[in-house]
Amino acid sequence: MKGIIVGGGVVGLCTAWAMSRSGHDVELFEQGALPHPLASSIDEHRLIRHPYGDHRGYARMIDDAFAAWDVLWRDLDRSFYAPTGTLALTGNGADWAARSAATLASIGRPMTELAPTELSQRFPLLDARRVERAFWIDTGGVLFAQDIVAALAGHLAAQPKVRLHPNTAVRSVDLERGTITTESGASYSGDAVVVAAGAWVGRLLPELQRRLLPSRQIVIYFHLPDEQLAVWSKGPMIIEKTGDVGLYLVPPMQGRGFKVGDHEFSRRGDPSTAREAVEDEIRPLLERCRSLFRGFERWRTDRLKVCFYTVTDDERFVVEKLGANGWVMSPCSGHGFKFGALMGQELARTIVSGRDAAAHAQWAAGLEGDLPT
Ligand SMILES: Cc1cc2nc3c(=O)[nH]c(=O)nc-3n(C[C@H](O)[C@H](O)[C@H](O)COP(=O)(O)OP(=O)(O)OC[C@H]3O[C@@H](n4cnc5c(N)ncnc54)[C@H](O)[C@@H]3O)c2cc1C
Repeated sequence: MKGIIVGGGVVGLCTAWAMSRSGHDVELFEQGALPHPLASSIDEHRLIRHPYGDHRGYARMIDDAFAAWDVLWRDLDRSFYAPTGTLALTGNGADWAARSAATLASIGRPMTELAPTELSQRFPLLDARRVERAFWIDTGGVLFAQDIVAALAGHLAAQPKVRLHPNTAVRSVDLERGTITTESGASYSGDAVVVAAGAWVGRLLPELQRRLLPSRQIVIYFHLPDEQLAVWSKGPMIIEKTGDVGLYLVPPMQGRGFKVGDHEFSRRGDPSTAREAVEDEIRPLLERCRSLFRGFERWRTDRLKVCFYTVTDDERFVVEKLGANGWVMSPCSGHGFKFGALMGQELARTIVSGRDAAAHAQWAAGLEGDLPT
């Protein structure tokens, strides 16, 4: 069997990896360099964590996601993961942490509730005054995202059954016939075409433009004074929700950057242009950091990164069969990296074995029901 993959982010590369390790031919097309600096997968880190609010399906999937990464680490001869544990906080009446804890208890992975005094003792750099409830779980950590993508691209380049085509934009796809046409007019065909084009997906598949919306997001990297850096470099990751908007903090594990972002979808922007952030865009995030972290007045902005989510209304992933020989693969809404290896592994299995496509879409959307083995 031969797979044609459009897109060289974590999702496309992991699908190529999984197809090739089960003995199939793969051709992968990427419009930019591999890795492509504008891809959503390209940043120093992405988080993986069990707490998932009410999304029981995704909470259940996390153990499988870790197992899939472990298979990849074996193939790459090294791990690109640093455990940190996960601290989930809520305030201002929000109940995301409590709902996450209830979901996790229901699947046998309980979190521990921390009393305010314990929270302040364990995490002295946190200003806990506005925190109403806090939960801790030992699992979760940082995936070194751009290093994973680079290592995976290097690994695939050495596989005899894989052909990588960097700097080769795909102009159109015919998912009925299983063919693609590049900007230069060359055509390629396979038994399955997987469109894993990230925030650009609507250009190739206009019928999905309304369901899969590019969303410009900004993260802030900070310089910390040495004594704060020493504390934060032991973790934890923080997921905080006060009200509707979530903030996450990525600790500077293994010498990587210290980063804060929020999970409020902008639902605007063009992923190909204007990657500079302006001060107005980050002010609310800075204000939230000021009220949550002690010593914030000594943090210095190092750099801003503009990156794109591809969002759905319900934040569920879209991995669906289209036409006789095509798949769209968009596990994003700002939480897809952690599932990259798993999504690739399972889609390759479904394509190769002819497993039920509707069951696959349901599973990828985090809805109840297991994939047939
Ligand atoms: C700021 C930010 C923070 C995030 N935090 C987390 C997190 O903590 N945890 C988590 O799990 N997830 C997180 N995510 C989400 C995660 O990064 C994405 O879900 C994931 O990287 C999507 O990967 P992808 O391969 O689908 O897309 P991409 O990485 O964007 O890859 C798509 C590729 O397709 C290529 N392409 C597009 N069109 C064409 C074409 N016509 N021809 C050829 N190539 C084409 C693009 O150039 C691109 O390289 C975050 C995302 C952002 C932006």
